[in-house]
Amino acid sequence: MKRKTRLIHGGISGDPATGAVSVPIYQVSTYKQEGVGGHKGFEYSRTGNPTRHALEELIKDIEGGHAGFAFGSGMAAITAVIMLLNSGDHVVLTDDVYGGTYRVMNKVLNRFGIESTFVDTSNLKEIEKAIKENTKAIYIETPTNPLLKITDIREAANIAKKHDLLTIVDNTFSTPYWQNPIELGADIVLHSATKYIGGHSDVVAGLVVVNSEKLAEDLHFVQNSTGGVLGPQDSWLLMRGIKTLGVRMEETEANTKEIVAFLEDHPQVKKVYYPGLETHPNHDIAKKQATGFGGMISFDVGSEAAADELLSKVKYFTLAESLGAVESLISVPARMTHASIPKERRAELGITDGLVRISVGLEDVEDLIEDLKQGLES
Ligand SMILES: *Cc1c(COP(=O)(O)O)cnc(C)c1O
Repeated sequence: MKRKTRLIHGGISGDPATGAVSVPIYQVSTYKQEGVGGHKGFEYSRTGNPTRHALEELIKDIEGGHAGFAFGSGMAAITAVIMLLNSGDHVVLTDDVYGGTYRVMNKVLNRFGIESTFVDTSNLKEIEKAIKENTKAIYIETPTNPLLKITDIREAANIAKKHDLLTIVDNTFSTPYWQNPIELGADIVLHSATKYIGGHSDVVAGLVVVNSEKLAEDLHFVQNSTGGVLGPQDSWLLMRGIKTLGVRMEETEANTKEIVAFLEDHPQVKKVYYPGLETHPNHDIAKKQATGFGGMISFDVGSEAAADELLSKVKYFTLAESLGAVESLISVPARMTHASIPKERRAELGITDGLVRISVGLEDVEDLIEDLKQGLES
């Protein structure tokens, strides 16, 4: 099966009982047993729900792994994955990970004895250097948010294998349409499905795919024990989103290329961050491990005032956190998604006050460029 076919025919199709083409929403918490333990595969919806199961089978197929899991948010998915570790274990993470990931590692999971070190994983030597006796996992986000740095997944997984560590990849920005980390050697891939996978700014969800039966058993145990599961309505909405993921990503990519070219040429724009640019420091790796570069662009307009001016003038770019939706979104990471990262740390990372991030949507690209143009030149 090729990629777009798998998005539509992967997992479980329809409902054999009725012939319904769409998987039904099983809005149910418990299941009748014909005698104690005599159930049909479902006992209680925290443990398993048929609609969620269909989504979990689908994400497993499109990421090319062994088992899939759906959670109530990307953060619930990340937390469950880190709960595979024990108190006293150490994780090496990408330094400009999603702000919420930084926060949960540094302010919540640290209290349960999980240690973390944040390094520039786009530099493989930094990963090697950060590995300690008690390191158990390498956690990579690539491309990163908001600077779109790229880590070589295959090489990072090779380092992990050498030290007997898990490789975990947050694949939210690339989506399973452009990048499949398990095929590159990762053990666990996860998504904030709130973004491209849902794609319509109407669901908060997280997805995980693991590459072995052992990890599947362990993660199912954590999922069932801690209970951060996704409900049936939202599971159904994600399956609906996934059907069009391919066409949405192709169209987003085309729009993004044109906007990048416009920004690169614009005198008000000091710097453009986009892995599809040949001048991007990790362009070659991005090209090698993903089939598309995605719809996220960050660019520096020089100052907070210039960023505010642009934000107040744009009509088609909605000022909002999040990304990956049909509507184009605009944000200033320093004061929004990355506000929970201390200012000094932001400065170290290059997340300046004039940095603007856009998530390119599916509007006509001429309108989007015109909108940015009037915003930058007002
Ligand atoms: C949004 C996001 C998350 C968190 O997901 P939620 O669904 O908001 O909990 C994690 N990683 C990345 C890269 C994200 O963009």
